[in-house]
Amino acid sequence: MILPVRCYICCKVMGNKWIPYLELMKAEYTEEDALDALGLKRYCCRRMLLYYVDLIKKLFDHVLMEN
Ligand SMILES: [Zn+2]
Repeated sequence: MILPVRCYICCKVMGNKWIPYLELMKAEYTEEDALDALGLKRYCCRRMLLYYVDLIKKLFDHVLMEN
């Protein structure tokens, strides 16, 4: 499953936040600081990044390992 384009609750655009979030996490930001830096103030938006699992990447890794 891919990250939904908009927050389910408040309709804020979320589709462009995942890659910047990963880059902030690589730069050793805490989750709280990364979400603040991305301008996500409402907890309805913050939880979408915190609980998101990148299943497509895991699926591709699994398929590539089988072949
Ligand atoms: Zn929201």
